[in-house]
Amino acid sequence: MKKLPLAVAHCTLILGMMLTASSCHQNSTPSNSIDNEINRADFDTTVLPGNNFFEYVNGTWLKNNPIPPTEAVWGSFNTVYDQNILRLYGIMKEAAATKDKKEGRAEQKVGDYFSLIMDSNKLNKDGISPIKDELARINSVTDKKSLWSESARLMKMGVNVMFHFGVGQDDKISSKEICGTSQGGMTLPAKDYYTDNSDRGKMIRNKFTEYETLLFEQLGETPEAAGKDADKTLIMETELAVSAMSPSEERDVHAVYNKMTMRQLQDETPGINWQTCLDTFGLKSVDSILVAQPDFLKKVSDLANSYSTDDWKTYLRLHLIVSTAGKLSDTLNSISFNFWDKTFRGIKQMKPRWKRAVEATSGALGELVGQLYVDKYFSASTKEKVRVMVNNIIASYKDRINNLTWMNPETKKYAIEKLDKITLKLCYPDKWRDYSALHIKNDAYVLNAIRVNEFNFNYDMNKLGKPVDRSEWEMSPQTVNAYYEPTRNEIVFPAGILQPPFFDTTRDDAMNYGAIGAVIGHELTHGFDDQGNQYDAEGNMRKWWTNSDSAHYFSKLKMVINQFDNYEIDSVHVKGDLTIGENTADLGGITIAYQALEKDLKQHPEGMVDGFTPEQRFFIAFAQVWRQNTRPAAARMRIKTDPHSPPMFRVLGPLSNMTEFYNAFNVKPGEAMYRPDSLRAVIW
Ligand SMILES: [Zn+2]
Repeated sequence: MKKLPLAVAHCTLILGMMLTASSCHQNSTPSNSIDNEINRADFDTTVLPGNNFFEYVNGTWLKNNPIPPTEAVWGSFNTVYDQNILRLYGIMKEAAATKDKKEGRAEQKVGDYFSLIMDSNKLNKDGISPIKDELARINSVTDKKSLWSESARLMKMGVNVMFHFGVGQDDKISSKEICGTSQGGMTLPAKDYYTDNSDRGKMIRNKFTEYETLLFEQLGETPEAAGKDADKTLIMETELAVSAMSPSEERDVHAVYNKMTMRQLQDETPGINWQTCLDTFGLKSVDSILVAQPDFLKKVSDLANSYSTDDWKTYLRLHLIVSTAGKLSDTLNSISFNFWDKTFRGIKQMKPRWKRAVEATSGALGELVGQLYVDKYFSASTKEKVRVMVNNIIASYKDRINNLTWMNPETKKYAIEKLDKITLKLCYPDKWRDYSALHIKNDAYVLNAIRVNEFNFNYDMNKLGKPVDRSEWEMSPQTVNAYYEPTRNEIVFPAGILQPPFFDTTRDDAMNYGAIGAVIGHELTHGFDDQGNQYDAEGNMRKWWTNSDSAHYFSKLKMVINQFDNYEIDSVHVKGDLTIGENTADLGGITIAYQALEKDLKQHPEGMVDGFTPEQRFFIAFAQVWRQNTRPAAARMRIKTDPHSPPMFRVLGPLSNMTEFYNAFNVKPGEAMYRPDSLRAVIW
């Protein structure tokens, strides 16, 4: 299920796992590689904790665990993710081997979806034939009306053309579902990739046109025609990109909330045939719509008229093949891999087919796979223990809010009410999603993938006019991640993350609070970060802070923005404004988890273990969670597009602001992490 393209995306712990990380070392045994305890052999004791705590805790581990050729990054998240991949592989193989699969059962859907990805002979024999009908439809576009009906059809199929369209909660009336649209229809990951005139920017655009040319050739064009079409689509997308927002600009929840009547929108964007789009989406009587980027839509409207129908057909063909290449033959997979994985992530080698098949099936059939997963691997005692930790951490957050010197009593009172009203979702949904309208057939992988996208699209469209279903989950249970959703005021921790190195019922509390405790604190703090603080306890975008509290708060955020602007990797600076929400959540998370641990230790004292105090183990567990090697290409792309800071700074940044950390490791002036009192940002 993908998040609807409305104003605010939910706030996750890390970037989506499918993008950031992947699967196993060829020969590793994942169960051995997960550190749930402190292993001094992983440390680099030549580094002083106060100079670089990330290196001190992880230095030798980082040296001994190079990135496998199939990966862009390698760290803690990968080890636990790997274990999940192996478990899911077992589940899928079993589903695929089940005899007399009754059509419609979870095993049939999962098994058939998986089997078709594994069948390389069929994929190579079919070539592009499974998308021939769709190419013929694009080819039969003759005028602007048919251009819009085909564009809308492709949007439903999950092809990224023109703009995004969806149905989701209205940020200002969170009990109501509403249509929304946001910028889309561009292939490269962010606006900057079209406009960056550095050598690297130009190199990426050259690779992009090479990639497009190869794809057009696969569709049967001569090299000359393919080259021309590639140049043309780059020009069209660049025009779109100039009117698009950057990832930092998109963080402004007010700027991206523009409610219009359909009539107003049609008047402002006469080149877009909205009625045809809505008819194709199956929507009747849409009165209002949220428009995230009105200027972008105006640009789409202008370009729809100024470019010829033939140019637009070329554009649609490109986007169809971009979004389906990875689900077709080995040749198309390689073209895709060489551009996306090599250029943007520095990956050397494609993952084996079975891993790609497991990831794709789990991504497409999230809760169906999830049901099979939790049946086999879920433990009820985990859920209860984590629930207790969440309650302790919420109690600590309340204490800290009550003790704040910069916040007015009325704002404090409401902040605590908002905390009290947070919904906690743990492990897996109480009510599983109904997949009965989704048919998985035995014809072609790409056709099943399109069916899944259409099923999801229709599922969203069906919400219009109905009450918001607050029991829905936006991540599957097997996901190694977590999120806060501001329009629902909820924190969600799938079963996938409630295992070592994040959580382990057999180890001491200090380590659990430093790992999953900081994650819980992180998600809670999102409710009060630069975006979350603009939403009330019911999830409505509404001002509830006094002006003076807001001013104080934003001056504190400014300190954090400046701090992170100064961090750099290979001379590329972290973007303090893009990452402020996540950095605030990291800082708040570790602070309140620490306070919860201190309260816990008063009742259940812990002594030294392995020569470390409980406080030291807390910070070590935190640094272990973020251990990660990253390829330079991947680091550069993330700094441009990811609202999360690079892992090393997710450790150094928050801890440099914490006096409790200075005390635990005797950090002194002159050491690299030391910040004078006046520069330490203490927000919560
Ligand atoms: Zn987050």
